[in-house]
Amino acid sequence: MTLQESRPRRPCRSNRLWIRLILRSPPGGGGGAVAESVAQSQSGLARKPSASDKAPTASIPGAEVGEPPPKPQESETPLQVFRAGSPSSKQIALTFDDGPHGTITPRILDMLRERQVKATFFVLGDRVKHYEWVLRQIVAEGHEIGNHAYSHRILKFMSNDLIDREIAETQSAIRNAIGYETRLFRPPYGDFRPDTRAVFRKYNLEVILWSVDTLDWKLRNRDKIFNVAINDTHNGSIILCHDIHRATLEAVPDILGSLIAKGYEFVTISQLCGLPPMRLASVSAPPPPPPQTP
Ligand SMILES: [Zn+2]
Repeated sequence: MTLQESRPRRPCRSNRLWIRLILRSPPGGGGGAVAESVAQSQSGLARKPSASDKAPTASIPGAEVGEPPPKPQESETPLQVFRAGSPSSKQIALTFDDGPHGTITPRILDMLRERQVKATFFVLGDRVKHYEWVLRQIVAEGHEIGNHAYSHRILKFMSNDLIDREIAETQSAIRNAIGYETRLFRPPYGDFRPDTRAVFRKYNLEVILWSVDTLDWKLRNRDKIFNVAINDTHNGSIILCHDIHRATLEAVPDILGSLIAKGYEFVTISQLCGLPPMRLASVSAPPPPPPQTP
């Protein structure tokens, strides 16, 4: 039984957070990357007032007319959420979620290596512990690792304590595999509550979403996946794929070939978003031979 057959799960869908677009000039170059600040949620959960809310015009006991609104506390600093890079550059980022997979991920790595393309893999903690050698190969070949939580549950329905545990256990699994933790986090389904930003900050995580959803989780068809990827990709695109589907594996070579022919340069998320480079892994030894997978 393949992984996707044994592990049905809802795909990463576009988040439903109400977001306020801002432009950010991150450190280390890459200015122009598009980041968003999370202001409030439409999830139906308790809504916290934000600093951007209009002050009420009705009189408030004890308040003076014209009193300036209170300054936001440091903790109210908007969370940066990256969805794309600079639209003025032909750089794009290919990302793979929900792995690592024991056979599909290594074959994708072969395809990336043949075309000298760098990508970013958002991994699940409960997969990493079974495929540490795959993570070491990913990093040894110059790609990046991101945290995609431990069990792929919907964060907005979880307490922050449980989310903290999901993130911590995945960071630990990644550290055990490659020697360091990641700064990149992609919430399952791209969804989370604004109040969870404190957990992300605790682990110094940047939240990375996407601008192109190849719909590979739904289409399961090589040609259809290819068409979505090619038609929707523009300068600065962050492309979402999943390295657990056979159809994705079949579509990747043509996606790479076509976008390279159009002049795009594939870079890692850190490069695309102007984030400091990930620390090089202490993974100098070649990865062990792949174990036999069922
Ligand atoms: Zn996912």
